[in-house]
Amino acid sequence: MVSYEKILTKNMDTPGYMGTLPEYRATGGYTAFEKALKMPPAEIIDIVKKSGLRGRGGAGFPTGVKWSFIPKTHVGQRYLCCNADESEPGTFKDRQLIERDPHQMLEGIGIASYAIGASVAYIYIRGEFDLGAKIIESAIQEAYQAKFFGKNLLGSGFNLEVILHRGAGAYICGEETALLESIEGKRGKPRTKPPFPAVHGLYQAPTVVNNVETLANVPYIINRGAEWYASIGTPKSPGTRIFSVSGHVKRPGNYEVPLGITLREMIYTCAGGIRNDKALKAIIPGGASAAFLTPAHLDTPMDFEAIAQIGSMLGSGGVTVMDEETCMVQAATNLLEFFYHESCGKCTPCREGSSWILQVLHRIERGTGRASDLDLLETLCRRIEGVTVCAFGDAEVAPVLSTLKHFKEEYVAHIEGRGCPFQPNVELVMAH
Ligand code: SF4
Repeated sequence: MVSYEKILTKNMDTPGYMGTLPEYRATGGYTAFEKALKMPPAEIIDIVKKSGLRGRGGAGFPTGVKWSFIPKTHVGQRYLCCNADESEPGTFKDRQLIERDPHQMLEGIGIASYAIGASVAYIYIRGEFDLGAKIIESAIQEAYQAKFFGKNLLGSGFNLEVILHRGAGAYICGEETALLESIEGKRGKPRTKPPFPAVHGLYQAPTVVNNVETLANVPYIINRGAEWYASIGTPKSPGTRIFSVSGHVKRPGNYEVPLGITLREMIYTCAGGIRNDKALKAIIPGGASAAFLTPAHLDTPMDFEAIAQIGSMLGSGGVTVMDEETCMVQAATNLLEFFYHESCGKCTPCREGSSWILQVLHRIERGTGRASDLDLLETLCRRIEGVTVCAFGDAEVAPVLSTLKHFKEEYVAHIEGRGCPFQPNVELVMAH
């Protein structure tokens, strides 16, 4: 196991640490914001670019590059939006950052807002995060009272208003343009891109949308420098990352590690191995939208490039582990239930396709599947992949295509044996 320094979660490991402003200040909190406010905004963007920090929400886009897309000549309002709508199944790291150390996210918001010239920042928090919303609201008030937010911050002439906006429980509002629609009071449906939010974002003004964990990294980069950050992890995927490990492991939880440790280290060293010492069957490495992997992939480094090369993605950092007793048809069906329910309905392939795929999966699991169903599933998925307004379409077919690729024999066993060879899941069998 490689040795590493915890950065984002270091305070949380201190007994009794509650994440209040005085506690955060005692560990060096807001010194990066004070430093940043004395620097030209372009220099901050340059440092973040050089650090190599990439978005921790899903797509892994370089953060500094995203900030630099805000048109320099734009003279009107600009916005920063912090995406705290963490809803990806298997992912729970932003929730911990919010509940245990909210000020590092707020400090990142302050620095990012100053760098892009945004005088208003929104935090869009998942509706179900009731405790998190209360904690953030209280932390925002502390930051206003300490004059980190408000007018003429630390005599710099920079003003910043920070607003908490609570979602209403739709997964799709984690997609950045649906998030913007939702803040504007409309139904949370993704916009067609281009134009991208950097040009036409919130209320048609230039906007940057960054994930909670992404922003929480920024104060450390400003304080310790781009070279320090770039020295952690791998050259193309620098820094640490918080992985949420769940499923059939002995020690589920959030683990902050340098990018590039292997899946094997994550599952067997960090999470203690497979529950009841059973054999490993499958891994989802980056949230429900990521394709399934197998034990053959255990020695793959967990960085953006290496995971993409084996046909999946690092996504939101949610690592779901399944043991030998898991039925892969049930696992895919379970995820399709979720995607079918959460499709916003804007485009036909996603809206209708998710329902059709689910019907086919249900009959296979129920024991009434046909031999032709495997080709039908593949065809349905290929007609959704790459043709929808947002990446949700690709996400919803990933569990089906990857289980068909790696575990086809289980689908065949369901069809030929007229039912599930594992423990049948009554809820899935009865549905639809
Ligand atoms: Fe909505 Fe699905 Fe189309 Fe995305 S792909 S816009 S979720 S219908």
